[in-house]
Amino acid sequence: MLKLQDTLSGKKVEFEPLKPGFVGMYVCGPTVYSPAHIGNCRTFVSFDVIYRTLLYLGNKVRYVRNITDVGHLLDDGEDRMSKGARLQQLEPMEVAQEHTVGFHDMMRIFNNLPPSIEPRATGHIIEQIEMVEQIIEAGLAYESNGSVYFDVPAYLEKGEGYGSLSGRKVDDLMAESRDLKAQGDKRHPSDFAIWMKAGPDHIMRWNSPWSVGFPGWHLECSAMSRKYLGEEFDIHGGGNDLKFPHHENEIAQNQASCGHGGARYWLHTNMLLLNGKKMSKSDGNHITTEQLISGESEHVSKGYSPMAIRFFMLMAHYGSPLDMSDDALAAAEKGYQRLMEAVKRSETLEGTGSEGAPLDLEIHKALDEARAHMLDDFNTPRAIASLFEVASLINSIADGHRKASDLSAAGFAEARTKLLALVHDVLGLQASTGGDADDSSERINGLMELVIDLRAQSRADRNWAMSDQIRDQLAALDIELKDGKEGTTFSLK
Ligand code: AMP
Ligand code: ZN
Repeated sequence: MLKLQDTLSGKKVEFEPLKPGFVGMYVCGPTVYSPAHIGNCRTFVSFDVIYRTLLYLGNKVRYVRNITDVGHLLDDGEDRMSKGARLQQLEPMEVAQEHTVGFHDMMRIFNNLPPSIEPRATGHIIEQIEMVEQIIEAGLAYESNGSVYFDVPAYLEKGEGYGSLSGRKVDDLMAESRDLKAQGDKRHPSDFAIWMKAGPDHIMRWNSPWSVGFPGWHLECSAMSRKYLGEEFDIHGGGNDLKFPHHENEIAQNQASCGHGGARYWLHTNMLLLNGKKMSKSDGNHITTEQLISGESEHVSKGYSPMAIRFFMLMAHYGSPLDMSDDALAAAEKGYQRLMEAVKRSETLEGTGSEGAPLDLEIHKALDEARAHMLDDFNTPRAIASLFEVASLINSIADGHRKASDLSAAGFAEARTKLLALVHDVLGLQASTGGDADDSSERINGLMELVIDLRAQSRADRNWAMSDQIRDQLAALDIELKDGKEGTTFSLK
């Protein structure tokens, strides 16, 4: 049984989909007025693992992840897309296209599966206008000067909860309400815009019953999740910085327009930090994906492969903050290499023992624990710890410390299938391809093959002094040689 930490109830609950075997999941996607950063990527890698786990459990999953290409307001009331386009003298759709393509490239290199549907906010203006009409009809929104506002006090009077997702009290919310440009048109500071009248310079604009304008940012996710997943669906997710106001307002809009809050379970990912501080473009505490892969940044000593970065992200639970640093990345890279080395070795390893061989039980126990950790709120760090136990067992046989006859042929074949499913299908880890970092590990492998051959040659020549010198000097560089049945292998400590 799959358990997940539901942010709405604040509890870890057993997941029960509305229709057995089918899961509807909506995740707030990127805003495409600027390039996605590695912090955004953490959120999408987390939901990719959640999606993969649901598929692994045999569900049919409709995974909807939107593209926000309108409606994300800046403090001065201007739409980010419009502003980006105006500054660069481009069509807003050119800006959106450039960053959508960049986002897709980034998702591909980190081996994220594409969602089943990727709707755009600008492609769903009709649905958003319909929702505004429904909310007005329900008496929970009002028009003011061509804009339409959600009436938070009226909504509360109906006895609907507001603030339960983010744990905020309405009084605090009222006090906190920001002084947006359109403040004068609102009846109450906590009311929020669901339709905005466009100013004369605003480029992105559509006809509506109230004005030529554009939808409020929160509306798109309410309208698109309902269109593709229904009034009630299973899971809604996003980064925890979206809990308020975005998700709180989404629930209110859904409830006000049709009497259902939308998702039954809410999942929120925690933030990626850089050297202990929230990643932020404004104070220079950020790193782009390209810099992380190429190593051209003051924050890293070298480049890391996308798979090592993905592994690093999986080393923390999605609900915990994750601090990115050069040391942490280097440790993750080693862990990733160790795991993938064992996966590679498992492909050629055969158990030669008979049924019930001593290691069968041990290897299956560790694999079943890894699976159980994934089913316990997608606990990737614990699952990885169990997979390391499997890797140690495989390495001990491949290195000749344990006998292949300690495993049965059928038992190991089954274990291999379980291992590959967990590593490739669930965690989405592949053998690395591309990138500078892979290039350098390939070169290290080639170089080590040469050194190992030279040592074998010196031993064949009975030149023990030379062979010892090679081993000792490698040890001084933290490179350990292991002489096993199938020859000499090396490991980086
Ligand atoms: P945005 O494109 O800014 O709307 O963000 C897309 C997704 O990335 C949202 O779910 C955000 O909550 C999430 N996000 C933004 N910054 C970070 C970060 N530093 N770490 C993790 N997720 C983030
Ligand atoms: Zn959203």
